[in-house]
Amino acid sequence: MLACSVRALLSQLPAVHVLADAAAARTSAPRWAVVECARRAIAERRAEILAGIVVDGAIDPAVVAVDATELARPVLRRLINATGVVLHTNLGRAPLAGAARSAIHEVAHGYSNLEYDLETGERGSRHDHLRSLLQELTGAEDAVVVNNNAAATVLGLAALATDKEIIVSRGELIEIGGSFRLPEILKLSRGVMVEVGTTNKTHASDYASAITPATGLLLKVHRSNFAIVGFTTEVAPEALVALGRPRGIATMIDLGSGALVDRETQRRWGLPDEPTVAETVATGADLVTFSGDKLLGGPQAGIAVGTHAAIELMRKHPLMRAFRPDKLTLAALAATLAIYRDATGTGSLDDIPAMRMLGASHGELRTHADQLAASIGTIAGLTIEVEACSSAVGGGAMPTAQLASWAVTVRGPKPDDLERQLRRSAVVARIEHGRVWLDLRTIAADELELVATAVRSLGG
Ligand SMILES: *Cc1c(COP(=O)(O)O)cnc(C)c1O
Repeated sequence: MLACSVRALLSQLPAVHVLADAAAARTSAPRWAVVECARRAIAERRAEILAGIVVDGAIDPAVVAVDATELARPVLRRLINATGVVLHTNLGRAPLAGAARSAIHEVAHGYSNLEYDLETGERGSRHDHLRSLLQELTGAEDAVVVNNNAAATVLGLAALATDKEIIVSRGELIEIGGSFRLPEILKLSRGVMVEVGTTNKTHASDYASAITPATGLLLKVHRSNFAIVGFTTEVAPEALVALGRPRGIATMIDLGSGALVDRETQRRWGLPDEPTVAETVATGADLVTFSGDKLLGGPQAGIAVGTHAAIELMRKHPLMRAFRPDKLTLAALAATLAIYRDATGTGSLDDIPAMRMLGASHGELRTHADQLAASIGTIAGLTIEVEACSSAVGGGAMPTAQLASWAVTVRGPKPDDLERQLRRSAVVARIEHGRVWLDLRTIAADELELVATAVRSLGG
């Protein structure tokens, strides 16, 4: 290309403010985003002209407006989970109940009694608000809430067993994900790990013979994210309590998921038996820890329940300051727990989205699948079908559970492309057997139309 025509093209490039003004008229994105995208578009075009790639200096402001809208989008976005994994850790685990969302809204709106005693007009404690609800729901003497179950575990270990020996089964030295590995957590809590038993079998006598005057804690970790099947033995919490209590040694159980729903309901939903918090507390364990956003279906939180002595040690521990929950978490958790309390006896847990999804009937899921398929209609080049599938609990809970479900499948020449396009429409799906699966278990009724629209857009 001739130098003079390059110069002519460069001179056609708009000024940043001119392009930004034209783009701003087409988007509600803030000024900084529009200016930034105008600048980038001009720089890109200039580079292309200099490289001899483009023969036009004009830039479409509509394209800049679309880029600016994208740039200014919130970093955390709402997605539709069509994976069928109910407590999907990557997708934020449990969606919150309406009452929990309202509670967050209310408390976020103004000031609150987070650490203020309305009776006395004096300083109160944030740790007081959920105690009685948790006592009622779990039967424990005392309770405290922290940011997540990882924090509850670290704090529980630090409070009960700093510089003491902690006896734990080799079959329970778990990794939960990321860098949370039990042996390292014990080290961090300044406990001295004493491993007993083997990978598949640990007996009460293994714990008994490992007890020394330096023993501070018997620890049991629920295998929530994997299963050991076959020739196995583990020691029940009550047997650990029976060993520890007469010797003045505390027992701590990390339940992981922490089911508040009873076993009968779990069975009705087709879930494998998960120990409930209440029955674990009833074994007499000094401390039981579990998550707020796994099977409980609430916000991210770690809940520790147990004896007053054990919980008080956690509350008073210097690390508590680093792990204490904020007002939004407490508000959402209190509202979620209230649903459980109100459901006792007669009520339903359907107000908790994760519970509703886990308890969804085969017939209801099939109806939703048929509705979704009908709403999608026919798309040239793609095959839309209703097929049986199985969903998972997720969130490191019940790894072997297969919940019978229904899906709408999309078959086309390039399933990877279809899945990626759906993701751009905020619908996360999975690919299996060369087609895209939209599992109805995790798609709420009021999301069906959005999913249908996203699928229809695959037709171009
Ligand atoms: C999930 C899990 C944790 C960690 O809980 P978070 O709330 O995710 O921090 C700890 N222990 C067990 C056994 C778990 O399953």
